[in-house]
Amino acid sequence: MDLKDCKVLLVDDIKANTALLKKLLKSDYQIDTVNDGKDALHYIESSLPDLVLLDIVMPDIDGYEVCQQLKADERSKDVPIVFITSLNEEGDEYKGLKLGAIDYITKPFNKNIVRARVRNHLITKKQSDLLKNLSNLDGLTSISNRYCFDNYLNNEWQRAMRSDEPLSLILMDIDFFKQYNDHYGHLAGDDCLKQVAQSLDCSIKRSTDFVARYGGEEFVAVLPKTSSDDAIILAEIFRKNIEKLVIKHEFSSTEQHVTISLGVATMIPERNTLPQLLIEAADRNLYKAKESGRNQVKR
Ligand SMILES: [Mg+2]
Repeated sequence: MDLKDCKVLLVDDIKANTALLKKLLKSDYQIDTVNDGKDALHYIESSLPDLVLLDIVMPDIDGYEVCQQLKADERSKDVPIVFITSLNEEGDEYKGLKLGAIDYITKPFNKNIVRARVRNHLITKKQSDLLKNLSNLDGLTSISNRYCFDNYLNNEWQRAMRSDEPLSLILMDIDFFKQYNDHYGHLAGDDCLKQVAQSLDCSIKRSTDFVARYGGEEFVAVLPKTSSDDAIILAEIFRKNIEKLVIKHEFSSTEQHVTISLGVATMIPERNTLPQLLIEAADRNLYKAKESGRNQVKR
């Protein structure tokens, strides 16, 4: 397994310690170092490492606190943490492991053992990433699947509720896809689905925007912090980009090529409500788009 791209974050308030570890690991992995707990949290907010080697005794925010905060956050909870510390009481180790760290190394350490443990943890991390990816991807189109969409929408619904910000959703359907399959065959149908999925996935630019296969010939986009007007703009981009593919469809009653219909809905979630509300609203608007002649956006 290639681990060269693995990112390891070293956290220790004593620079000599991070320097020593860096020297030990830098030929095998991408290494970054920070020298206090606050910087560690700040770093991980913008970029997720594959492993954190974390000192415990540090001024202000100590290693336990850093671990606790990372494990409490949905985004960073799966980042493996190894405590590396001069605290060598069993109680300290127990506390660290109970907070969710996968390992506990005491100083002074044996260099070879540290290198071997880091390697083992990174292999496990990579394998778990791979499984997570497989379970989140649609087998045919390789974009996110329904399961991944449900999780993403739930999280963003909660986030939008807390921050009192609009969340938009676009539900999309390939026009006359049954006729496409009937006339061109299922292999061509699969190929059409792949092309549409790739086009939609390439049309989003913000890292928080999300596209998934919703089922059959239906696709969905989740757009956090997005007003209704901005969602309409993106929906139009989706629609036009599918037209630009010019996938021949002589059996469509709309155009001579494949088109999509889109329903857009935007809400600021209220307390104790479910994201199903947003999906239903988008679905009603998708229905309107179809009723009005397809190949168009409705909200
Ligand atoms: Mg320290």
